[in-house]
Amino acid sequence: MTQDDTPPAKQRSHGRISVQASRKPRDLMADVRIAGAWRAKVITLFPDAFPGVLGLSLTGKALDLGLWALETIDLRGFGIGKHKNVDDTPAGGGAGMVLRADVVGAALDEAAAGTPGRAEWPVVYLSPRGKPFDQAMARRFAAGQGITMLCGRFEGVDERVLHHYGVEEVSLGDFVLTGGEIAATALLDATVRLIPRVLGNQTSTEEESFSDGLLEFPQFTKPAVWNGLEIPEVLQSGHHGNIADWRQAMAERLTKERRPDLWRAYCASHGRDPVEDQEQ
Ligand code: SAH
Repeated sequence: MTQDDTPPAKQRSHGRISVQASRKPRDLMADVRIAGAWRAKVITLFPDAFPGVLGLSLTGKALDLGLWALETIDLRGFGIGKHKNVDDTPAGGGAGMVLRADVVGAALDEAAAGTPGRAEWPVVYLSPRGKPFDQAMARRFAAGQGITMLCGRFEGVDERVLHHYGVEEVSLGDFVLTGGEIAATALLDATVRLIPRVLGNQTSTEEESFSDGLLEFPQFTKPAVWNGLEIPEVLQSGHHGNIADWRQAMAERLTKERRPDLWRAYCASHGRDPVEDQEQ
């Protein structure tokens, strides 16, 4: 709960969707045109970190076009008292500070306004303890209407708030960042590029790494000879069948060598023997 003397939390929108309280009619028109757009709400102590790199290149262009929308919710706005405190010392002692349950809870309440059920709108806390993020999760997120992401700082957030709101914990990997913002940016980038029309060429998401459970085959471009190294002949043959076979064989070989875990899963789902000799 925000306290009585607390002004409304600062919110910022990126792209074409405006969520300010005092919308002008023109903005409302814009909302209508992009009513179904996928939306991300990011709760953070550092709203300036967004859109960051998401504002560049394909994700940035898509943001400008209204193919998706990004809203930051400033956690500081829900801080307690004159100093807008958002954190306090850990119960039981120990180093660092923990984000308060009441402060984070109020921000999550604000983010929940106007959102559908969790199946359509996951609520995620970026956390090294979470389920490792992967392409399947990106696909699930992109298939919904939007997402709320909670970025932690310091030692993280009070455990009670995670349980109370049924927050899903998601990790970027087995390392510790100083805050959730970089992780949220990475998750959003991977998710947003799966939204229709964000990438110009949709087939590129079907062929790339992980789409079929394999790592991607090696890519080459001009010049044809570089430092005495040639592009594999088959890629210059113009024979689409042979090129597809070569790429499949290379993807399988790379996956088998580099990621035995992915290779075993791929074989299990394709009725293949993981120790079979590879076709070349
Ligand atoms: N004390 C915590 C780490 C806190 S790091 C622990 O040991 O689990 C501070 C914040 O950075 C976290 O609250 C989380 O939001 C973010 N963060 C750190 N590492 C992360 C990772 N691998 N994936 C996602 N978020 C991470």
